[in-house]
Amino acid sequence: MNFESLGLDARILKALQEKGYTSPSPIQQQAIPVVLSGQDLMAAAQTGTGKTAGFTLPMLQNLLGGQGARNNQVRALVLTPTRELAQQVADNVSLYSKHLPLKSAVVYGGVKINPQMQKLRGGADVLVATPGRLLDLYQQNALKLDRLEILVLDEADRMLDMGFIHDLKKIVALIPKKRQTLLFSATFSDPIKELAERFVTDPEEVSVSPANTKAATISHQVFEVDKPNKTKLLIHLVKQEGWRQVLVFSKTKHGANRIARMLNAKDISAAAIHGDKSQNARTKALADFKSGAVQVLVATDIAARGIDISQLPYVVNFDLPKVPEDYVHRIGRTGRAGETGHAVSFVTEEDIRELFAIERVIGELIERHVDAAFPPAARLQASKLDTRPIKPKKPKKPKQPKTDQVQAADAQTKEIASNKPASRKPAARKPQGQGAKGRSPQSGAGKPRQGSGNKPAQTPKKPAEQAPSTTRAPRKRVRPNRNDSAS
Ligand code: AMP
Repeated sequence: MNFESLGLDARILKALQEKGYTSPSPIQQQAIPVVLSGQDLMAAAQTGTGKTAGFTLPMLQNLLGGQGARNNQVRALVLTPTRELAQQVADNVSLYSKHLPLKSAVVYGGVKINPQMQKLRGGADVLVATPGRLLDLYQQNALKLDRLEILVLDEADRMLDMGFIHDLKKIVALIPKKRQTLLFSATFSDPIKELAERFVTDPEEVSVSPANTKAATISHQVFEVDKPNKTKLLIHLVKQEGWRQVLVFSKTKHGANRIARMLNAKDISAAAIHGDKSQNARTKALADFKSGAVQVLVATDIAARGIDISQLPYVVNFDLPKVPEDYVHRIGRTGRAGETGHAVSFVTEEDIRELFAIERVIGELIERHVDAAFPPAARLQASKLDTRPIKPKKPKKPKQPKTDQVQAADAQTKEIASNKPASRKPAARKPQGQGAKGRSPQSGAGKPRQGSGNKPAQTPKKPAEQAPSTTRAPRKRVRPNRNDSAS
């Protein structure tokens, strides 16, 4: 299959050709016709599958059919859990729309709000945003959502994990009921299905790969090592194997700083990226890593979300993730879109249970190694695959101080939820693209196209990182001051 056969606009095809894409990835093949038809979509697709183009390309095409955004108006809103992902998606939107008469913008916390307000004055056909900053801007009348045509929830599972449910409810209370909604998530866990009931109407479901499986192009192995030798082993591997562009995951922000410092001391250029760094420092570290100026980027989980560097060859789990499902997300940073990649995890005696949990989640044992230069004092307990099904857990409810404004927004949300139209039909929207031709919007509605998509839920997690202080207007404060890295 090629992109032409999906019925995409010639100007979009031109941008794809310039980018060097020759054929659509599986998620693109499935999602693009559904979105072009105007129908709501629930897509189970992990990062690295090409999901961003899967929603962006048909979204742009659908927008071509309507009237351009007027002052402060937003026509399509893409919500992402982290600032890095927001920037990444926005870069994709700019790239794919470069030959189109459409305006796009991106807003997230941790940077000055005024330039974002100015940019929004002219309106945005596509706005990519993190939920907190979007609400701040809305409260300051910097944008209008009353004519929103398309809502995309990207990495919805992560947004729930990070406690954004209240913000999402508030946002959905501000936008028209008649709209197209696209929900992308790594899994279709129970909390995601609950979210979908509130946000999505008669969706078509597509699923490209079972959750918790790594891409076939990624090789991975475990190094058994004693804790005090982890940094030395990392330095040894980077130098000996001549690794360039290595993404290293650290459990803590402090640890990330320390690893980067020690690498630099050994003449390996490294930078740390985490929620205590200013947004400018995060952006610079990522840019330096992408350009090759920095060889090793040491990141915590939340900061790493959204890092997409094509052909990133090496990922190192300096510390194993606290949440076993994050293992797949982490190593999914490499081996993207069919490229090969290599992931290495350091495991000490203390982490052995975490390794077992990961192996249970991914359904396979990971090959063990010992580096002759840094052998552990004693070999670690051998793995035995635990094949018992994993019980899905519900994410914790985010804590919310009840301010007057929050109560008002909650009341509004409840009202909207109770007024949820029972009969909004996807057929009410006119298909914009050729891809919609001859397609029944009802066909297979709500049915999975491939695979069941019913996967174990991710273990709930609190927002792991505190955002650097954001610029907020003193008046009209609506959000509780919550710890998150996206705001
Ligand atoms: P995503 O899952 O959206 O983060 O995309 C993962 C990577 O795949 C990104 O670097 C995209 O630029 C790339 N990509 C997306 N679609 C294609 C395609 N059809 N052919 C080749 N690369 C692609």
